[in-house]
Amino acid sequence: MSREADLKRIHGRIRQCTQCPLHVGRTKVVPGAGPVDALVMFIGEAPGFHEDQQGIPFVGAAGRFLNELLEKVGIDRRYVFITNVIKCRPPGNRDPQPEEVAACRDFLDQQIDIIRPRVVVTLGRHSMARAFPDEKVSRVHGQARQVGEQVYFPMYHPAAALHQPSLRGVVEADFERLRDLLDGKVTPEVYVPPPEAEQLSLF
Ligand code: URA
Repeated sequence: MSREADLKRIHGRIRQCTQCPLHVGRTKVVPGAGPVDALVMFIGEAPGFHEDQQGIPFVGAAGRFLNELLEKVGIDRRYVFITNVIKCRPPGNRDPQPEEVAACRDFLDQQIDIIRPRVVVTLGRHSMARAFPDEKVSRVHGQARQVGEQVYFPMYHPAAALHQPSLRGVVEADFERLRDLLDGKVTPEVYVPPPEAEQLSLF
């Protein structure tokens, strides 16, 4: 089967999913969007109101800001894959619960396995925690780390910069650094997980 067909099949399963209570309140599931051969994958947190209405990730205010950031550094949104840690909207846009993240985890792992992006950009704490459970975004944002086949690049969530204008410059600088990474001007450090995280890690 082609990778495109594999991705379609997973997205079909995500659309049918009833593994956690979020399926009850959803309008549309938001599996993710972008080409199967994307070199860069952005992982946000969870769909919000507009994403739930349209079934497409990052189409609300945070999405418009993400588009702006991408455009500024010459990355075409049509060539990147964008998804979220969880695929259904939490009520009132609250933080994802651990059980919801766990229920969606396998879907995200399969998306990464099929797409095999060179760079995975994590947007915000919940997305970063999947790869670096004990880190803080404030400490590691903008640092490229090789984890297995992928280079992980943690960033603040664009919504954080919308709510906290002082973060805007930080996020813009991280996008410039992402551009440098894609241009081969930044060498990622090889990530060695701390001993206790190694046991928990699913990598
Ligand atoms: N915020 C996210 O984390 N994901 C979306 O898809 C939209 C807003």
